[in-house]
Amino acid sequence: MSQIIRSVSDLKNEIYKVKAANTSIGLVPTMGALHQGHLSLVQMSKNQYDVTVATIFVNPAQFNNKEDLLKYPKTEASDIKMLISMGCDIIFVPTAAEIYGEEPLVKLNFGYLENILEGKHRQGHFNGVGLIVMKFFGLVQPTGAYFGQKDLQQFRVISTLVRDFDLSINLHLAPIIREVSGLAMSSRNLKLSKTDQKKAAAIYASLELAKNQLLSGGKKEVVLKNAINHLGSKSGLKLEYFEIVDAETLKEKTTVNEGDRLALCAAAIIAGVRLIDNIIIEL
Ligand code: AMP
Repeated sequence: MSQIIRSVSDLKNEIYKVKAANTSIGLVPTMGALHQGHLSLVQMSKNQYDVTVATIFVNPAQFNNKEDLLKYPKTEASDIKMLISMGCDIIFVPTAAEIYGEEPLVKLNFGYLENILEGKHRQGHFNGVGLIVMKFFGLVQPTGAYFGQKDLQQFRVISTLVRDFDLSINLHLAPIIREVSGLAMSSRNLKLSKTDQKKAAAIYASLELAKNQLLSGGKKEVVLKNAINHLGSKSGLKLEYFEIVDAETLKEKTTVNEGDRLALCAAAIIAGVRLIDNIIIEL
């Protein structure tokens, strides 16, 4: 049976019991407004670990834009229902006051990752991500934790935490779950009209276009230009970036060569909603 826990002290008590029974724990952090992408992570965790803990917490520390935080979709009751029906063992739903009763003094800086892609466009975002993930790692003491490829740079940031702090946690990167149109599922899609959701599918289409051109030997500059033109031709869609980077380091590639593992990453704003997506390919 699922347990819904709202306080840090109740969570600590429960984790203490789970740990005493020598049980493995899988953690799935989310910000709620759950969709099939989130649920796929929960399913993977259930397949791999004895106990699955999902968190629902819209983390104020990772929002660099106050308006974005205020309009972030909240569907707590149906989220909890979905997690219960999946058989998620522990559902942790704290308030911001519960988590940040004491304002953290620690600041995390992820070096060059701060100056590229999402880091460059969302100042302070990864400090907020790092803080909440470290808190959840500390509270839940998971054996493994699941993150989606959709937030690829977030995964690199969390891998950096695990490496630099020698954390004994298995990190799992889960594939992107998409709508039939190709649009990556995202809680933020709830804020878009059906028409804008259709328009937003152009992001994935442009990534696919770039992928196919790169796989058939296209030059990086030409491929980028074509992808950007494709997106530019969609009215109401504002491209923030489209980049071809190394899939591991996420550093920009000046040239692309056979054998390269690349991530094609894009961010665009539609009707005031910021969406990101990516594809990983091997040449
Ligand atoms: P969020 O609630 O947006 O913070 O996402 C929680 C976790 O779900 C993160 O690890 C995301 O990368 C992952 N996630 C979000 N969207 C998708 C998706 N479409 N497919 C797979 N995982 C996803």
